[in-house]
Amino acid sequence: MKLTPVPITLSRCAKTFQGTRVLEPLDLAIGAGETIVLLGPSGCGKTTTLRIIAGLETPDAGGTVSFGDDDVTRLPIERRQVGMVFQSYALFPNLNVRENIGYGLKIAKVEPAKARRRVDELLAMMRLEAHGDKPIDQLSGGQRQRVALARALAREPRVLLLDEPLTALDARLRDTLRREMNALLRGLNVTTVYVTHDQAEAMELGDRIVVMSAGRIEQVGTPREIYYRPASRHVAQFVGTINRLAGQWRDGALATAGGTIRLPPALVPAAGSELFFRPEDARLVEPAAASLVGTVEGISFLGERTRVTVSGAAADTLVIDAPGRIELTRGQAVGIDVAPEGLIALA
Ligand code: ATP
Repeated sequence: MKLTPVPITLSRCAKTFQGTRVLEPLDLAIGAGETIVLLGPSGCGKTTTLRIIAGLETPDAGGTVSFGDDDVTRLPIERRQVGMVFQSYALFPNLNVRENIGYGLKIAKVEPAKARRRVDELLAMMRLEAHGDKPIDQLSGGQRQRVALARALAREPRVLLLDEPLTALDARLRDTLRREMNALLRGLNVTTVYVTHDQAEAMELGDRIVVMSAGRIEQVGTPREIYYRPASRHVAQFVGTINRLAGQWRDGALATAGGTIRLPPALVPAAGSELFFRPEDARLVEPAAASLVGTVEGISFLGERTRVTVSGAAADTLVIDAPGRIELTRGQAVGIDVAPEGLIALA
């Protein structure tokens, strides 16, 4: 099968429904073969953006969508060469696996022998050879996911669009299928846009993540950039857990409830900024040796690590990830040592 991925360019794409702006003018460039994840809370405009790329919605006047050099803004979905997978997979329950995968080929009147070869190829690619003649309701969740992907790929799309394909599943299955999806998407040479509100999915699947909020893009970056260099408090708080060190700045030092943190001048944030850090970027130490001191409030043993909440060290309760073997008791005084490279200043 020959997939030829194209870059996608959205330029000034806005969307208004019945007089209400749900998407502010948005620019986004997606590389050929890249997997982009649109991440954000419900109602932020992810699906609308995906539907504009698909050709199921037209952007407001002035917005354009290009696939490579082709301006596809006015092209209907059936002429855009996109493959789509929805939350429910929308497989046909009365058709078997082969018929589901080959459905689009039949509609497009692809010659039967050629269609059969394509379906065989997709069955092999998705490790479904043994299941071609089975009805859909005899498949596991993971197998259904692969049928839905195979069907979306059957017509050799230039672009693959996935709208919350794992959301309807229970948590355990979702974890397994996320891993499978990762392997599948890495192996495909197709430009992919994946919509989710689940940050673990976004981190694992995206080459880059587009964090959206209230119809706007907040940040575009690799999962590491989004996690370690969030552009705003909203991004920092939406992706992973983060601690805020609120306090008074004086002479390059931050005075918090539990002590004073002195920073090298280069790390002192601009006026009005606050410092944040991730739970894994601090260590619990002897109180006497620490600049920040607080009291252990909660201890959650999670096996490979122990998640500890500490009060009194800053205005907010802090969350620290300690090694699994650490022994602590509630009410105990602890020192907190934050790694300088883990400090994030945000306005
Ligand atoms: P979810 O994760 O819940 O699907 P989302 O981020 O994908 O959320 P969208 O589906 O893009 O969000 O919706 C963005 C906003 O636009 C929402 O407030 C929604 O109610 C509104 N909206 C979407 N489609 C329409 C429509 N056809 N008519 C009117 N309003 C719409």
